[in-house]
Amino acid sequence: MGDPKAFLTIHRKEAGYRPVHDRIHDFGEVEQTLNSNDRRQQASRCMDCGVPFCHWACPLGNKPPEWNDALYKGDWELAYRLLNSTNDFPEFTGRICPALCEKACVLNLMEHEPTTNREDEAAITEHAFEENYVRIHHPERNGMKVAVIGSGPAGLVAANRLNLSGYTVTVFEKNEDAGGLLRYGIPNFKLNKAVIDRRMDVLRAEGIEFKFNQNINVEKLPDGFDAYVIATGTPQARDLNIPGRDLKGIYFALDMLAQQNRVLAGMEFKREELVNAKGKDVLVIGGGDTGSDCIGTAHRQGCRSVTQIEIMPKPPVGPEDPQNPWPNWPRTLKTTSSHEEGCTRRWNINSLKFIGKDGKLTGVEVQEITWKPNPEGGRPLMEPVGKPEVIKADMVLLAMGFLKPQQPKFAPNVFVAGDAASGASLVVRAMAGGRDAARQVDAFLSAK
Ligand SMILES: Cc1cc2nc3c(=O)[nH]c(=O)nc-3n(C[C@H](O)[C@H](O)[C@H](O)COP(=O)(O)OP(=O)(O)OC[C@H]3O[C@@H](n4cnc5c(N)ncnc54)[C@H](O)[C@@H]3O)c2cc1C
Ligand code: SF4
Repeated sequence: MGDPKAFLTIHRKEAGYRPVHDRIHDFGEVEQTLNSNDRRQQASRCMDCGVPFCHWACPLGNKPPEWNDALYKGDWELAYRLLNSTNDFPEFTGRICPALCEKACVLNLMEHEPTTNREDEAAITEHAFEENYVRIHHPERNGMKVAVIGSGPAGLVAANRLNLSGYTVTVFEKNEDAGGLLRYGIPNFKLNKAVIDRRMDVLRAEGIEFKFNQNINVEKLPDGFDAYVIATGTPQARDLNIPGRDLKGIYFALDMLAQQNRVLAGMEFKREELVNAKGKDVLVIGGGDTGSDCIGTAHRQGCRSVTQIEIMPKPPVGPEDPQNPWPNWPRTLKTTSSHEEGCTRRWNINSLKFIGKDGKLTGVEVQEITWKPNPEGGRPLMEPVGKPEVIKADMVLLAMGFLKPQQPKFAPNVFVAGDAASGASLVVRAMAGGRDAARQVDAFLSAK
């Protein structure tokens, strides 16, 4: 630890977002960066705790005290080596990880001013690319071949680890480019796609082969491989089958988000194919992160208004939820950059039916509800409160999560990773899953 007392005098400082009036007109990343001096000062606040809860909280087991110390001392290269030893792609988590480590930081318990690990990660990695610390490896081949199905964060990490261990790796991807939800889900204002392209250049130079537009039937895997990693994510979004579902103007969140990212990548769509919020009153059904990404995208497309409704109660506001104490992830109200850009948010709202005219959506009938404890235990019971009301909307975006895929019984040389194994989760968890799958493949093939 470089400065044992820095946390007493230096406060947490976040780089913050670009001003709303500036960022709302483009899809550039909203988050700013600190200068190197401030960044190193932030790193100096890490206390190198005897029991570092950040290791425990990070699904990758990242070691913030080690790389924060190197960063504080100005050894950016060492900081990157330490970070990259547990995190294959810190440029992704540095931008979009909810930073479970920061919630478990001892400085969060005492002062609610945890270290800025996520931003430190992004800064270290940007510096590493600028200074050419990111080296191209040429691993010695061991003669065995592995196929990875799906190129989201789980598939990319599995491919990277196996490739570096000497396997010849081919990635089969359904889409026209790599990244999974990093590329065709998460908006560019959270993650610029050039960041994925830059990493793809490294992976290709190191020998991984990518085959795009390959929709693989996982029950009939391609021949010629010693083992397989299935990292196909959670392709099926949860639907809302209430009356009026067939009206024009109701979309799944990813219909809009994926298309917008493709438009920004230069793809052209026919007018009638466009899922665009320009001039519309938008209702987002689902109060989570996907819904929030829809809000930010709708604003940038020029919507007239945007409302987000959630069936569950409003989470507690404030740094601590007594039901879920430190160092666990606190279930508290999250206000994202997209919410800051303007949005009506409502909780405890159930959707009853879609309303339309001439086949087109005009609104959604909803009703306020309350949750009562279930006398038989289990999930609380929903009870209506008051009268139904109509929220005016000519566009609805369904952002209610994804169904957990049911995987078939696979042969012993097939391993499932990421959201395909766990159900919808986080990038950092998918990456940890990809790393675990790579370990399992290696153990299986080494034993053979
Ligand atoms: C809108 C949105 C925003 C999100 N924001 C965040 C965030 O800010 N932070 C965060 O941590 N997490 C976020 N998540 C969650 C995160 O993106 C996922 O948990 C993560 O991408 C899962 O990684 P994965 O590799 O398991 O699957 P995916 O990223 O879904 O990748 C699966 C890949 O497999 C491919 N595939 C599927 N079937 C086949 C097939 N049969 N043949 C070939 N290829 C196939 C798909 O095309 C895709 O490329 C967000 C999710 C969404 C939907
Ligand atoms: S990946 Fe996420 S949880 Fe892990 S150290 Fe980085 S910001 Fe923290």
